[in-house]
Amino acid sequence: MKLPTTDALAARARAALDRIGAAVPEGTGLAARSPITGEDLFGLRPSSPAETAAAIGAAAEAFTAWRTTPAPVRGNLVRVLGELLRAHQDDLAELITVEAGKIRSEALGEVQEMIDICEFAVGLSRQLYGRTIASERPGHRLAETWHPLGVVGVISAFNFPAAVWSWNTAVALVCGDAVVWKPSELTPLVAIGASHLLDRAIAEVDAPRDVHRLVLGGRDVGERLVDDPRVALVSATGSTRMGRAVGPRVAARFGRSLLELGGNNASVVAPSADLDLALRAVVFGAVGTAGQRCTTLRRLIIHRDVADEFVTRLANAYAGLPIGDPFDDRTLVGPLISGTATDAMAQALDKAVAEGGELVCGGERLAPTYVRPAIVRMPHQNGIVREETFAPILYVLTYDAFGEAVALHNDVPQGLSSSIFTRDQGEAERFLASDGSDCGIANVNIGTSGAEIGGAFGGEKETGGGRESGSDAWRAYMRRATNTVNYSGTLTLAQNVSFL
Ligand code: NAD
Repeated sequence: MKLPTTDALAARARAALDRIGAAVPEGTGLAARSPITGEDLFGLRPSSPAETAAAIGAAAEAFTAWRTTPAPVRGNLVRVLGELLRAHQDDLAELITVEAGKIRSEALGEVQEMIDICEFAVGLSRQLYGRTIASERPGHRLAETWHPLGVVGVISAFNFPAAVWSWNTAVALVCGDAVVWKPSELTPLVAIGASHLLDRAIAEVDAPRDVHRLVLGGRDVGERLVDDPRVALVSATGSTRMGRAVGPRVAARFGRSLLELGGNNASVVAPSADLDLALRAVVFGAVGTAGQRCTTLRRLIIHRDVADEFVTRLANAYAGLPIGDPFDDRTLVGPLISGTATDAMAQALDKAVAEGGELVCGGERLAPTYVRPAIVRMPHQNGIVREETFAPILYVLTYDAFGEAVALHNDVPQGLSSSIFTRDQGEAERFLASDGSDCGIANVNIGTSGAEIGGAFGGEKETGGGRESGSDAWRAYMRRATNTVNYSGTLTLAQNVSFL
């Protein structure tokens, strides 16, 4: 496998950061690393406890000015951020490829998603609507008003090192909040680049400088955001393990949390499905981003009548997948994030086979961080199939009756994304109905991954219940006040209560 050298990757990262205008806080304690070679690029300095506390304090101070800035004026900051992201789309994508190992088109797509959410948020800045409500009392007006919430702590995962931040930050900023971002310790350079573009936008529109602050480091730095009472909302994206730790800690201080955690996503393939279309969607869903999307397809629940033929075609498609350097335009499967991730994949495959699975293809380690995506036929959905292994493993399960497919589909602890491939409209509707898929995302004739920003994104059960991005997800970033205004000149109590 021909790969660039670590020196060449470090030079690419430095050049991209130079074009963005960001300085690298070199030092020790945190390594910028590339999964392309699995080696360190250079050392960085993590934020100290005092620096993290100061960043939260500065953001809290900036919030007091930002919350009274008119929302459409706040939108102008996000508009400028969107323009800068467009101008530096290639540079940020370059950093995403170096640090997260995404192939070029997916890295560019991630930045496109950032641009899209900025455009959405600019429109939103004029649409932070409250309702008026019919009062039961004469001469009274009942209404709700949405106000900025405070400091939002954004904790993000490695696999969408910039887009998840932008979903939160573009929306939080128009909602009048200040943001402190703790990116994944695996992708600090992407964060430095993205955050610097926002700093530039802040300077250009003369917004309060500390309305956004970046803090770098690992779990300990995240924990400081989690425990600080000045952080009104902790929006945390990552593993269910992380959410299990974060949720109760934030709740213990009566803070709000928005959790976007692991998935165990499935597609049902019915006998009536367009199998050509389903095949392409399944390959992208299972193998795109080397199986490292929260929405990656992990379980294929396929009707017994079409299973053998489909799995054979799938294995043929897998055999032709170009695996290697994500900077090479022909590559479709880049590296996993680390050697630990490839180890976890190997262990999961061993477990699957020990649990009665039949390895159809893949699983070989081609280099320390490169694997061949695997397909495993499973006789049942126990053990390892119920877990999210963050690697390209597709478990295949078969069904006979539609009800069995839905039951299998829902019988996992996670509830992020789901889809069905069928030409039977009744089945499609049943899959989307209240007793159908129990996920936050349920699709028909399209795969589980690759959501648009316009809808609310997130999932149920161990996925954490949070919703981000489009639709009315903005409400999580604001506080609601209910207002009763009495213009009648007399005091009437609700529920006909008489007093005095
Ligand atoms: P991770 O849980 O290891 O880390 C995520 C972030 O949480 C990092 O910034 C990390 O430093 C921080 N963190 C970890 N433990 C913490 C703690 N106790 N307190 C505070 N901060 C803590 O996840 P990862 O390996 O970077 O990402 C992969 C996971 O993220 C997968 O499970 C994937 O499904 C999930 N994910 C979910 C979504 C979603 O929207 N549902 C999106 C992307 C990724």
